[in-house]
Amino acid sequence: MLTKSIVWSPSRVRMLNECPRRYVHFHVVGSGGWPGGPRSKVPKVAQAWQLGNRRNHTDLMLRAVSEGVKDWILMKYRDEKWSEGQAKNEMTSRLRNNLKDSSGEIDDDLVSKMIGDGFPRISSLNRAPLLSQLSGKHVDEWIPLNRLEAHWVGNSRVYTVPDLIARIGEKWHLVRLSTQMWCRVPSEIQQLELGVMLKWALEEPSLPNSVDQFVIHRIGWVNHRWLGWKKHGSAVWKDASQVMLAHDLKELRFIHSANQEDVDLDKLAVNATKKNCKNCGFRNECPSSATTL
Ligand code: SF4
Repeated sequence: MLTKSIVWSPSRVRMLNECPRRYVHFHVVGSGGWPGGPRSKVPKVAQAWQLGNRRNHTDLMLRAVSEGVKDWILMKYRDEKWSEGQAKNEMTSRLRNNLKDSSGEIDDDLVSKMIGDGFPRISSLNRAPLLSQLSGKHVDEWIPLNRLEAHWVGNSRVYTVPDLIARIGEKWHLVRLSTQMWCRVPSEIQQLELGVMLKWALEEPSLPNSVDQFVIHRIGWVNHRWLGWKKHGSAVWKDASQVMLAHDLKELRFIHSANQEDVDLDKLAVNATKKNCKNCGFRNECPSSATTL
């Protein structure tokens, strides 16, 4: 019987769809997830977590950028002065920690390159859609939120909280930020993932209980600049997102109940493409890896 609660986030579902073996290795064998950590004293579990948590340099850079973006938003909210020098020092220290945790090595030339690639995403936030207007008269009120705060659906934890909400007149704007996007307009599945914020908003006692009073935004970094996409909330969108969420939870529940920590990973389905395996910490052990190292 499944005793652990199921956790839903777009990145988990993506990992499951990209390669079920990778998902089971990290999230079932390694008990993976945020806040994570090698929490188990069982070496096999701790190692699976460590390998599953390994990320390529771009992901480590994006993780440090996300932290810097959070700092920027929080300082803006508290009306504190943001300094480029201080933010760069913070990002450098986060990158060094991320590299140390991931591979145990810190390469200063690599850190400089990661700063060069990632820091413009933080230093240009004051030109990003909607974010540039937060301190002006256009926005009536706003508050940053913690998207890593889970929202419960039955006994499942789902990550549906926006990065911030802002009220402009009668409308409440639910904002999701992305430090790397390939396209300004979200795909159909990404729009369904964004739509889960509507259910969260409707269940928040301090927010309106009418779906058409919400506007969903996705603001992200595309080709060297921040671009925004927005769409008005609707009952159809909210319901379709809930159907997707229920389907994902069913899949996740099945994969967790069908596999235990002692699962034979070699017998699990794989989707071994160079793209998937390149960023998988399990690639050195996995006999199906498509990456030759
Ligand atoms: S190495 Fe490739 S095939 Fe093996 S688990 Fe990782 S992503 Fe899947």
